[in-house]
Amino acid sequence: MLPGKLTTSIKGHRVTGDPASHPYAGKTATLATKHDKLGLIGPPLERAVGLQVEAVAVDTDSLGTFTSDIARRGTPLETAIAKARLGMSATGQTLGIASEGSIGPDPTMPLVITDRELVVLVDDDRRTVVSGSYTSSDIVTATAAVAPGNDLDALLTAADFPTHQLIARPNAGSIHPIRKGIANVEDLTASVSECAQASSDGFACIETDLRAHACPSRQAIITAAAERLAQRLAALCPSCGSPGWGVVDVLFGIPCAWCGSEVRRPRAEVDGCEACKHQEIRSVVALEARADPAECQICNP
Ligand SMILES: [Zn+2]
Ligand SMILES: [Zn+2]
Repeated sequence: MLPGKLTTSIKGHRVTGDPASHPYAGKTATLATKHDKLGLIGPPLERAVGLQVEAVAVDTDSLGTFTSDIARRGTPLETAIAKARLGMSATGQTLGIASEGSIGPDPTMPLVITDRELVVLVDDDRRTVVSGSYTSSDIVTATAAVAPGNDLDALLTAADFPTHQLIARPNAGSIHPIRKGIANVEDLTASVSECAQASSDGFACIETDLRAHACPSRQAIITAAAERLAQRLAALCPSCGSPGWGVVDVLFGIPCAWCGSEVRRPRAEVDGCEACKHQEIRSVVALEARADPAECQICNP
């Protein structure tokens, strides 16, 4: 613990009262980004913990792209850490930041497209990785197979074009050419002709360009994830003072009001520190809480 720096406790999380006294205050972290995300990720971190974020342009496409021309290999967390490390080796900083988005059908509602954004901070001095994530369906996505001469009005409205940019590629047979960052009708018309011609079925596949700088609805979700990371970093470990104290696990099991057997309901959260591995269990229900027998496997099988 760093005496004098821990001023308040909110829901069991120790937070610094003043970003200027945070361990990261005045430190510089490298944000690895091919498409400039500095304005989305830097401000929340600077406000919350006084961290200065500098962007470095590295080619993160080698770690996977949305257009699947290069498939992502690791999990989103592994990919984000690998990106952060690319930036750290480029600048020599021991603090690195990167983000990674996963956009696709919601596992429980397949017709809904969701975007889960993950922002990580890799700290090689403390040997820690702290992350924040945010999931939202407030992302504009559209996809359609079109032939040259087709009326595109409905598609362009659904795609919020040209505020959101588009990608064109052959609909079948070939993955090339891929035209990205299409932002005006002339480019779109030319790309449809070119990609339809290269396609074995005569159609071009038009879809939303999901790269952050081309997709404003995604930008807000990246910022929300950066806010989550900033809040987590603001919470300091009560044992060693490292940034990033927060929930690492949830414990289940509340006694049924009728029979007393355990019902699978959250009972407590486990807060933990990546640096020193200290953990504390924090109840999320009163000790005398009992579960509704309607949820009990024995009383209501
Ligand atoms: Zn600790
Ligand atoms: Zn019961």
